[in-house]
Amino acid sequence: MKLLDRKHAQLPPVARPAEAAPNGEMAAFPPAEEWDDWVEYDSAAWPHRVEKHYALLPTVCFNCEASCGLLAYVDKDTHQVRKFEGNPAHPGSRGRNCAKGPATINQINDPERILYPLKRVGPRGSGKWERVRWDDVLADIGGRIAATIHADRHDEILYHVGRPGEDGFMERVLKSWGCDSHQSHTNVCSSSARLGYDLWSGSDRPSSDFANARFILLLSSHLETGHYFNPHAQRIVEGKMKGCKLAVCDTRLSNSASMADYWLPTLPGSEGAMLLAMAHILLARDLIDRQFMKDWVNWEDSLRALRPQAEPTLENFVGLLKELYAEFTPEFAERESGIPAARIVEIAEQIGWAGRQFASHVWRNTTAGNMGGWQVARCLWLLHVLTGSVGTRGGCSPNSWDKFVPAPYMPPPPHKRWNDTLWPIEYPLSHHELSILLPHFLKEGRSHLEVYFSRVVNPVWTYPDGATWMEVLRDETKVGLHVALTPTWNESAWFADYVLPMGHASERHDTVSMETHAGKWISFRQPVLRTLAEKQGQHIKRTYEVNPGEVWEETEFFFELSWHIDPDGTQGIRKFYESPDRPGEMLTLDEYYGWMFDHSVPGLPEAASKEGFTPLQYMRKYGAFAVEDGIYEQHLKPVPDDDAGVVVDGVRRSGFPTPSRKLEFYSQTMVDYGWPEHAIPGYIHSHVHPSRQDPDKNEFVLMPNFRLPTLIHTRSGNTKWLNELSHSNPIWINTRDARRLGVGMGDLLRLSTEIGYFVGRAWPTEGIAPAVVGCSHHMGRWRLGNENAPSKWTAALVDLQEDSGRYLLRQTEGIRPFESPDPDSKRIWWSDAGVHQNLCFPVQPDPISGMHCWHQKVTVEKAHPEDLYGDVFVDTNKSHEVYKRWLAMTRPGPGPDGQRRPYWLQRPYRPAQEAFVYPPGGGGATRR
Ligand code: SF4
Repeated sequence: MKLLDRKHAQLPPVARPAEAAPNGEMAAFPPAEEWDDWVEYDSAAWPHRVEKHYALLPTVCFNCEASCGLLAYVDKDTHQVRKFEGNPAHPGSRGRNCAKGPATINQINDPERILYPLKRVGPRGSGKWERVRWDDVLADIGGRIAATIHADRHDEILYHVGRPGEDGFMERVLKSWGCDSHQSHTNVCSSSARLGYDLWSGSDRPSSDFANARFILLLSSHLETGHYFNPHAQRIVEGKMKGCKLAVCDTRLSNSASMADYWLPTLPGSEGAMLLAMAHILLARDLIDRQFMKDWVNWEDSLRALRPQAEPTLENFVGLLKELYAEFTPEFAERESGIPAARIVEIAEQIGWAGRQFASHVWRNTTAGNMGGWQVARCLWLLHVLTGSVGTRGGCSPNSWDKFVPAPYMPPPPHKRWNDTLWPIEYPLSHHELSILLPHFLKEGRSHLEVYFSRVVNPVWTYPDGATWMEVLRDETKVGLHVALTPTWNESAWFADYVLPMGHASERHDTVSMETHAGKWISFRQPVLRTLAEKQGQHIKRTYEVNPGEVWEETEFFFELSWHIDPDGTQGIRKFYESPDRPGEMLTLDEYYGWMFDHSVPGLPEAASKEGFTPLQYMRKYGAFAVEDGIYEQHLKPVPDDDAGVVVDGVRRSGFPTPSRKLEFYSQTMVDYGWPEHAIPGYIHSHVHPSRQDPDKNEFVLMPNFRLPTLIHTRSGNTKWLNELSHSNPIWINTRDARRLGVGMGDLLRLSTEIGYFVGRAWPTEGIAPAVVGCSHHMGRWRLGNENAPSKWTAALVDLQEDSGRYLLRQTEGIRPFESPDPDSKRIWWSDAGVHQNLCFPVQPDPISGMHCWHQKVTVEKAHPEDLYGDVFVDTNKSHEVYKRWLAMTRPGPGPDGQRRPYWLQRPYRPAQEAFVYPPGGGGATRR
């Protein structure tokens, strides 16, 4: 923070931060008109006043999905980034960041980062690499992809991405190649919650208006780590400062729960029962919004299906709801969840009192932990439907209202393929690809991969059953070529053929938007050194010219690769990467983004012109643009007769993108696809329901899926500040259980799953319920060697022993000081690397949503004499058997008209309608 003695920031009106200060007062941000030449004194020169001149250039954080704005302070003399702070012009983050944002500086200065393209030498996974030329890399990969496409084996090309960090670009690439090849990490993240929301509203996430709510119910830990963490957390606090009450439902006493007015420590998987009891109270006390329900719920269809004899009146529907949820009394919910009945009633009354200003969120947490977790999202949305808090100020909107994805120049048409490896017929309702099953499908010979890209994803470490991933990634008959696009080493890149360095947040271009509040914005990630060089008059052809080493950015990589796949343009691919103004020449990034900002972002050309900028110059200056604010009640918008819509109140309105254009309480889709018992929001006993545990055998529920505020999966591995803050994942165990087991603080515990075990340290606490244990998934990074391996800031050196599918991973060296150009690497004072628990989890795909159900039934005992801290044992033969058991729980498609998947339901990288028909080529197969 700097003491300003000048006029406060001249920021775009919508982005002006509340903190901007008048003359002479403390201000949070440098004024925008001085961003081209911002002066600070060199702290190292104190007590002398030595001026440093900086260019302040915006970009976007790439550490979590929230995509907050960053302002890079670039030294104009040395062209080094000095630090990152918040970008006040970003409408989502409004100048604020969590600890991970400013730690981007560690990532770009990481002494262990990958600077040059590398090719494997020797067997895959042997840890031997040679530096290669980018031209050769592009020729090799481009040639293999071209041959695969030419042989009509498009499905053998796979692009596996964790956090995309961008909107629309890779969809363009894969569609231009004609491939149904996008595989996300969503089914280890959020498939479940998405399905629940989608069934109701046709949109797969809520956009919660926390800042204007009167009551907030979170089934997540948004104040510390949740979805859109920093943008949401600041708005929840804003709401609280205006008097809003906050309830946090979390089995574990998270930081968020500790800051709430109510902590609801439900037993894992019981949340649906508690929410339905709240619905029961709202109905019993008549705290419901009849007008909203009458207009916007498919109550007539629901009555027709469930009570065909009843007269179609709203009152009969309300009566039906009371009947359907009669068993969900607060007392029943107390028995299931452990939350006192009186507390459930109190929360329900608060929700009823808040009415249309009730906001909520569920993401990961219980939905990602439990079989049937998708029903929890449905139960939560039922509370919104009953209170009419859908699309309102202070309520929740469908995310599609608040996310803005601009149309690009010349978008390719949808492809006509359906990749059965990603969208298997067993899971017609899965929300996103069955990525966790890929190694099992490869093992079974269901498919083969010719070219596998991994990007911002590390399945060997992040996914369950990582040893099975290792087995298939090592096997060249199953994976022909593994290309890891990554700025830093990770456990999966160790098993690659090419490791290609890609830029961090300040070394690349992307556009990205998130539904952080009731408004739409777009942000622009940019390579700040390139922008500065161009401002200073240099001509830069490719971003790698200014990035460290030979680090590329993906956009340029895929431009070039697409030209290598179709060098003469005869395949119809190259044209999507040709300049609109210079026929036969490659599109430049200025042309690509310039066209988008000129044509597809409403209001941006006008805002730019007011400041004498082109739209592209405006985005390079501010890094973000607020497209619209205060977005509510979009479902009420009148639409023409020939548009999709529904007549309500005598007017044809846009409604919601569901078959009925209303919110669907009763889902005919669930019936059509073989799940009539789940046609309405309900309560499914989780795979870890207490009835499935035997306390006498020391069986517990393990909650392994909570984040730490300061880390973010693989990406934070190379950030020294964050690793100094967090470097341990002890096992939370209730003090009562610890006493019973004779376990004290730090004692070693062995936790056994169905396919193996891991050994960690006990952390007895009152912050977790009895019979439940918890362990954060952010720790336990490991490396098989000292060079070209995951970071020494965070990863333990391990020995991996294997015997016919049985693996023992043992740490041989913890975290230690090491030699590097960064003197801090010799000052490392911590030694713990944590424990990699995911390795001993089998895949547990929910039979409907496809979500990996993270919670595990475990046996907890004191460590055995031969156990060492950090040991992980796993048997992949057993894991394959568990996979088959879960697969057998599915009810395969197709559905009506031979559809592999309901056409109305969302699907990323959506193919043409004809691709939905099963079997391939059409024919309208009936249910098998
Ligand atoms: S919440 Fe933190 S990690 Fe996520 S985008 Fe914002 S600053 Fe980055």
